[in-house]
Amino acid sequence: MQFIPNIIFAILLGVGVYFFANNVKKLIRNIKLGKDVDRSDQKSERWANMIRIALGQSKMVKRPVSGFFHIVVYVGFIIINIEVLEIVLDGLLGTHRLFLPILGEGFYGFLIGTFEILAILVFISVTVFWLRRNVIKIKRFWNKEMTAWPKNDGNYILYFEMVLMTLFLVMNATDVHLQQSGTGNVISQFIVPLFHNVSFEGLHLIERIAWWLHICGILVFLNYLYYSKHLHILLAFPNTFYANLKPKGQFPNNKNVTKEVQLMMDPNADPYAAPAEDAGEPEKFGASDVTDLNWVQLMNAYTCTECGRCTSVCPANLTGKELSPRAIMMKTRDRLEEVGRNIDANKGTFQDDGKQLLGDDYIKQEEIWACTSCNACVEECPVNIDPLSIIMDMRQYLVMEQSAAPQELNAMMQNVENNGAPWQYSQMDRLNWVNEE
Ligand code: SF4
Ligand code: SF4
Repeated sequence: MQFIPNIIFAILLGVGVYFFANNVKKLIRNIKLGKDVDRSDQKSERWANMIRIALGQSKMVKRPVSGFFHIVVYVGFIIINIEVLEIVLDGLLGTHRLFLPILGEGFYGFLIGTFEILAILVFISVTVFWLRRNVIKIKRFWNKEMTAWPKNDGNYILYFEMVLMTLFLVMNATDVHLQQSGTGNVISQFIVPLFHNVSFEGLHLIERIAWWLHICGILVFLNYLYYSKHLHILLAFPNTFYANLKPKGQFPNNKNVTKEVQLMMDPNADPYAAPAEDAGEPEKFGASDVTDLNWVQLMNAYTCTECGRCTSVCPANLTGKELSPRAIMMKTRDRLEEVGRNIDANKGTFQDDGKQLLGDDYIKQEEIWACTSCNACVEECPVNIDPLSIIMDMRQYLVMEQSAAPQELNAMMQNVENNGAPWQYSQMDRLNWVNEE
């Protein structure tokens, strides 16, 4: 009988880890639906970027208030979770505070005391975040894409963190031995008076309930990540590592177009030569659906924290245009999820569902053409996401596959082709202004 709690714990842990592993598998499968892109160069610069931006949060602190509180939550959450190791071992072995005799009362008390201070700081920080979202109503949290699930997700995670931190402190406050030792109870000692009239058995029961809810909450949180913007906790690291290192504004040449131009400019090339037999189908230009994007762009979509910093600096959005770079990332993720579900439902093969990322269901042409390609969104993103690259790939698709550029742009491109300049004048008339009075 005495092993029943250990068995229940092992089953819960196994189920939690099993579902998490399944979600990770699905995540990797979906990201791999993207085209290949080589980001194996400049390793040392990539490591430095990851350490500075993901681990060091260097871009977060550009906005000092949210940056500061985010660092507190980030550090607190990671360090407090060291305690989870002890909880898991206690749960499996049927022990109570396994590390106490190993580390000694003094050092163990110091660690638990540090965790308690961090727990209260995390609690305060997430309360500030909640106030900024729901009371102060900071504009970027209230853009039109932030309704329904994205809005609720932002709040759920804050409640989650508040509850987990409270359970941790209650667990310590009702642990009679910890309180009597007088070490490691720097914060929880102030909660103790709330349980003044509770018997020893009652305290033990509350401590056990808080302990179980705390670990179950962590397992639920682990599995909630896949459905939440909080995937960035894990993906910020690979995302910053594999980010584009080329100077902003340097767009990649389409290799098929480059080949065509080189052919046109090579005096020895035969423009009428038939394509080689093994040349295969010509590649599609640009992107109209998620499978036309590369895997880094798809990872970007899963990494987006929906913070809206990009949208808050986007000149198109600020001047009332339809475009929001955050929405571009959110829609890309939504469509990718839809494609993933389609593949799951059809035994591993995608069945055409008549939808695509570019179109009325997700990203509209109006959004794509509103972009000034200024790169402000890329510069501002705290985890190095590149919404502009998706926009440019879609533009390329519209121009080169659909000839669907806006009328003004078509006229300009025609002029460049015919007149060698964007204007509607013949090249012969270019110097006419010299003779003007
Ligand atoms: S690059 Fe485009 S989407 Fe990004 S901030 Fe500039 S206008 Fe907005
Ligand atoms: S793309 Fe970056 S800046 Fe924009 S919402 Fe996502 S994480 Fe925030």
